[in-house]
Amino acid sequence: MALAFDEFGRPFIILREQEKKSRLRGLDAQKANIAAGKAVARILRTSLGPKGMDKMLQSPDGDVTISNQSIYFSLSLSLFYSSTRFLPFCAPSRLRLVRDLGVGANDGATILEQMDVDNQIAKLMVELSRSQDYEIGDGTTGVVVMAGSLLEQAEKLLERGIHPIRIAEGYELASRIAFDHLEHISHKFEFSATNIEPLVQTCMTTLSSKIVNRCKRTLAEIAVKAVLAVADLERKDVNLDLIKVEGKVGGKLEDTELVYGIIVDKDMSHPQMPKRIEDAKIAILTCPFEPPKPKTKHKVDIDTVEKFQTLREQEQKYFDEMVQKCKDVGATLVICQWGFDDEANHLLMHRKLPAVRWVGGVELELIAIATGGRIVPRFQELSPEKLGKAGIVREKSFGTTKDRMLYIEQCANSRAVTIFIRGGNKMMIEETKRSLHDALCVARNLIRNNSIVYGGGSAEISCSVAVEAAADRYPGVEQYAIRSFADALDAIPLALAENSGLSPIDTLTAVKSQQVKESNPHCGIDCNDVGTNDMKEQNVFETLIGKQQQILLATQVVKMILKIDDVISPSDY
Ligand code: ADP
Repeated sequence: MALAFDEFGRPFIILREQEKKSRLRGLDAQKANIAAGKAVARILRTSLGPKGMDKMLQSPDGDVTISNQSIYFSLSLSLFYSSTRFLPFCAPSRLRLVRDLGVGANDGATILEQMDVDNQIAKLMVELSRSQDYEIGDGTTGVVVMAGSLLEQAEKLLERGIHPIRIAEGYELASRIAFDHLEHISHKFEFSATNIEPLVQTCMTTLSSKIVNRCKRTLAEIAVKAVLAVADLERKDVNLDLIKVEGKVGGKLEDTELVYGIIVDKDMSHPQMPKRIEDAKIAILTCPFEPPKPKTKHKVDIDTVEKFQTLREQEQKYFDEMVQKCKDVGATLVICQWGFDDEANHLLMHRKLPAVRWVGGVELELIAIATGGRIVPRFQELSPEKLGKAGIVREKSFGTTKDRMLYIEQCANSRAVTIFIRGGNKMMIEETKRSLHDALCVARNLIRNNSIVYGGGSAEISCSVAVEAAADRYPGVEQYAIRSFADALDAIPLALAENSGLSPIDTLTAVKSQQVKESNPHCGIDCNDVGTNDMKEQNVFETLIGKQQQILLATQVVKMILKIDDVISPSDY
């Protein structure tokens, strides 16, 4: 083992491979894999819950991310964690992460995304967090902590000589019991388009564990309004692609706003063009909006001033005709994917046709959806029915800076909205984007399925009690695995208590016995020291599908890891 320093002076530990092994079999393979999985879970454990610590992640090019969300990261942490002792099959196994810093990333998915993970099992854990993010959008830290805890319990069972397949089977049975029990303790969550308060409360729970928790009410309201704006409540469907999240450094987080329309980080191509256009008819062009330029392959011989003048006039005429065509079809604003030169710009200003240039493809698509227009890829195809319509297009400037943005509002398709985030620095904006993503997903999940379970570890404790009780019904060896599953469920309340500075075991045992005594599955960990541990009173809840998904995904991954009994890796690795 050696302590070394990288070029930035950050310390890392290198544990030399003890023996050159290219193959690990049986119990050794399982233990090595479990150690790798546990290592990832350990990193995220301290980020769980409203008092979770944040992680600061630095990318190879020096970019810093601070989050408390499981960033599926590729961060290079100051602590170079080369666990070759546990993972002899992946020699320079690199799992670099930043130590808890008090500020930083704390979303499981975000943190993992940015981590430079070489080990294949560790990558599976990253995938696990990513699938939870993909399906549900929240609970990305919890799912990894849960999987880590299941692996830890499995290790103990393996040591007692229980075959991995029996453990896997027991876990599967237990996960179904927990899955059904969650359904049993769930509640219907009532809300309507006019009564959005319950939805706002749920989003606030999600945001309370994030760095942006200071503004959780404002952000939760914005998220809910945005989701409702794009939701189809009858079909219980929400297309989150219609919600654009845009950020600009400056202002305060409190200035974050929801705009019913599209915001583009661009301004009018000429400062003298109008800053506000009402009843705009927009031509959305992905074709060049300028006279065709002679390319290198063509040769134009100009030997007299007159010829040069003629060429210029022809070019002007050509562009003039393009402008005229826009005007003829009725366009009052042109939004182009490509640029045009200053002369063209000047002409546009003269002909009173405002234009915006260099707008990205994704934005053009959103503008087209919002304004009900069609993207025009060939200029000849421009026609009146392809124009998008917006009530107001205005340019807004910020503070004393020259920063301007274009607001396209009162669009024909009012279902496209933009959340415009303000914040003191880029890191804050990026973290707010990630946190809002979670809140948007939670609101969407509730619209799809309005069942909830209470948070703060209460649902896990209740499941743990139910699974433990059910274990006696199984006469075989699975019984041990089912009991271990019940113990593994306790990892979430334990981590929540520990991260909140409470004594984990004392708190958990007290809450568990209270749940059993009062038959109240809503008792959880009072992380914020509110004075009651009834999560229903604290209004801390999570979606049923999110919690069920966490248990299913964690069990699937752990089963997969347990079933690997042979690890073959290249001998030079
Ligand atoms: P994840 O990425 O898994 O959502 P979080 O860091 O957001 O992780 O933590 C979520 C956990 O914190 C859940 O178990 C949730 O019930 C719990 N939690 C959130 N807010 C509170 C609160 N105010 N009191 C107690 N527990 C809370």
